Amino acid sequence: MCPGHLIPMMNMAKLIAKHSATVTIVITPRNAARFGGFLHRAVASGLSIRILQLQFPTTGYGLPEGCENLDDLPTLKLTKNFFDASAKLQEPLEEVFEELNPRPSCIISDKTLSWTADVARKFEIPWVIFDGMSCFTRLATHNLLDSKIHEQVGDFDPFWLPGLPDKITITRSQLPGMFNPGKGAHEKGINIIREKIRAAELGAYGIVINSFEELEKRYIDEYRKVKGKVWCIGPFSQANKNDIDKASMVNNHECITWLDCQKPGSVVYACLGSLTRLTPPQFIELALGLEKSKFPFILVEKGGSRTEEIEKWLKEDGFEERVKGRGVLIHGWAPQVLILSHPSVGAFLTHCGWNSTIEGISVGVPMITWPQFSEQFFNERLVVEVVRSGVGVGAKSVRYLGEEDAAGIQVKREDVCKAVKVVMDEGIEGKERREKAQYFREMAEKALEEGGSSWLNLKLFIEDIMLHTNKDMAG
Ligand code: UDP
Repeated sequence: MCPGHLIPMMNMAKLIAKHSATVTIVITPRNAARFGGFLHRAVASGLSIRILQLQFPTTGYGLPEGCENLDDLPTLKLTKNFFDASAKLQEPLEEVFEELNPRPSCIISDKTLSWTADVARKFEIPWVIFDGMSCFTRLATHNLLDSKIHEQVGDFDPFWLPGLPDKITITRSQLPGMFNPGKGAHEKGINIIREKIRAAELGAYGIVINSFEELEKRYIDEYRKVKGKVWCIGPFSQANKNDIDKASMVNNHECITWLDCQKPGSVVYACLGSLTRLTPPQFIELALGLEKSKFPFILVEKGGSRTEEIEKWLKEDGFEERVKGRGVLIHGWAPQVLILSHPSVGAFLTHCGWNSTIEGISVGVPMITWPQFSEQFFNERLVVEVVRSGVGVGAKSVRYLGEEDAAGIQVKREDVCKAVKVVMDEGIEGKERREKAQYFREMAEKALEEGGSSWLNLKLFIEDIMLHTNKDMAG
């Protein structure tokens, strides 16, 4: 339960319901409230969506009152506690499941909630996972687990990712935690969760992916050889056609009014997702790099427990004063998809979370890539080397959530400024990147249209589940 998983699942629910299936969304009260307007509009539009709320266990796990989402946690060192608390939802879910009418034909669950596999088993229905990642990542992960090649190299020695359709190098320091765990005490707890998830997902009936065939066809084909039932039914962010749903949980659109006054393709939008907390020194480098580039920008600041330090610097340094009119700071949550869809945005500086990546791809914006954690370096490789619509800032290794200080300053203001200038460049290379980005925007749009690849895959997915259900009933 965190924005990077809940947002795509909400959008996916809408897409599935548009195919005339009934969708029951199981969610906790505070998370339901976050999506209140979105869900209300979806239901009011006539889609067959039911909301089933389960109380999140509040005591006994060392979590502050009211924490129902990873981004509510004061520190991500509490991740294991949060997962343990979430697992307590199994019993109440089983209790209400009996009452559901019509009875669900399958459970589509975020793969991190691995206990939902037991619920599906109990009710003898397929357990389909959603893991919020690309087929590039799924394939690269599978091949690394198989070959273990990363165990034979030094942390910063580049090696070829085995068995991929393209020749792509990476270093061990850039790999997801599964291959490159952090050294902090709470990492042990996270490793236990990772192991549970991996063991459970082997038993999944199939997997739905927030991607589309045209984006990573060769990777999807290869991954299907491994997993069989793989349905690419995205990009989910494109499920929303009106501004209010694109804005995802934000009412304040002042930045949109500002964007309306900027030249087309002139603004750099910089946002590192919902969980990344840059340390104040690293945030300062980012801010000064954007300033140095001289392009107009929107910078989203999420300092978490160190917000005060960042805000103090912003004032004392005079940054906000200097960039007035040319730079907009958003403190907290930004209406990302709405911003990205604005014609004034010319580049997206992103941490390469998969949602942000595919949101950027779907609106045809070239990207400046600065991976932070998890599988984000894989996503960077996809954008920079396969899709070819982005340029990296030169990040060298993953940061561990909750231990950001240990990483020091990885990216300097000069690196940010250089990457921004390269992406915003009006020359041939910049033009080629923009053309690539536009090409994939068109492909993304077509994929979801009636008869498009994702539309067809979703139809095939629902037919597969129905066939399974009918066979079961006949048997
Ligand atoms: N997001 C947003 N506003 C913000 C930060 C994030 O709307 O200020 C959304 C973003 O559009 C995406 C999700 O939150 O849908 C973040 O998911 P992603 O996989 O990119 O990264 P994560 O937050 O999981 O690291």
